[in-house]
Amino acid sequence: MPEQPGAPHAHAHQHLHAHPHGPGHGHHPEGAPERPPIGGDFAGEPAPVEIRHLHFRYPDGFEALKGIDLSIAAGEKVAVVGPNGAGKSTLLLHLNGIFEPSHGTVEIGDTTVDRSTVRRIRARVGLVFQDPDDQLFSPTVFEDVAFGPLHMGMPEGEIHDRVERALAAVGMTGFERRTPHRMSLGQRKRVALATVLSMDPEVLVFDEPSAGLDPRGRREVIAILRALPQTVLASTHDMRLVADVFPRVIVIDDGRIVADGPSDEILDDETLLAAHGLERP
Ligand code: ADP
Repeated sequence: MPEQPGAPHAHAHQHLHAHPHGPGHGHHPEGAPERPPIGGDFAGEPAPVEIRHLHFRYPDGFEALKGIDLSIAAGEKVAVVGPNGAGKSTLLLHLNGIFEPSHGTVEIGDTTVDRSTVRRIRARVGLVFQDPDDQLFSPTVFEDVAFGPLHMGMPEGEIHDRVERALAAVGMTGFERRTPHRMSLGQRKRVALATVLSMDPEVLVFDEPSAGLDPRGRREVIAILRALPQTVLASTHDMRLVADVFPRVIVIDDGRIVADGPSDEILDDETLLAAHGLERP
């Protein structure tokens, strides 16, 4: 474990108090001035995702996914919506190999997700849980964000560099020594994302990224999601979030994709939305 979390980042600690301003970036073009600049500057290229004929049966025999076909281009941002129990989480948990298809395939770039590739896949596909407390378990933000790179055996300089960049990407520079469980939900959600960004993933998978946030927390999440260079797949019930961030949306019901297209068209289709327990934003 790192002996002095965050210590080498003297410059970062100039901004320990709330609402730090990023160095040299006076105005944010989208009018969200309360945080330092966000956005990934990681080297990893976003990867495409290809899902073919995916079926999944839980051990009790219930078939939660009944033939999912889905192609997502590198760098594309796609929202997954649908009523409770539709299969959204079950689908997302296939992206990094937590679940293995009963039938069909999931490919990240040119790698098929299976037992032999799952370790590599976990480094390339970052999963951000709805509840950040499922992801944060260290006494300091630094240790939580450093955990992945440390586990990969990276040199200390690289670990510090990654932590710094991951925190910058979520507007949490300066929080290295803070205790995650004392922070607001919005801050904990952003740190949870940073713990995944520090692995330099090519694909990011979110479960309900805006759930439970106050208006400011929501605005911050929207700005962060928009700036991410990775391929992004997110389940959500927040149709305004879909409209604000995701150009494409898929609607899932009863384990099947029932609609897939541009968000502005799908969010305008009241009949379709009502048929699947959804509402217009
Ligand atoms: P969503 O995320 O859209 O709410 P889920 O993927 O969580 O839906 O669940 C899809 C379906 O699979 C639901 O009918 C749910 O009851 C069922 N399911 C979820 N987990 C299990 C499990 N461990 N065993 C059996 N069925 C499950």
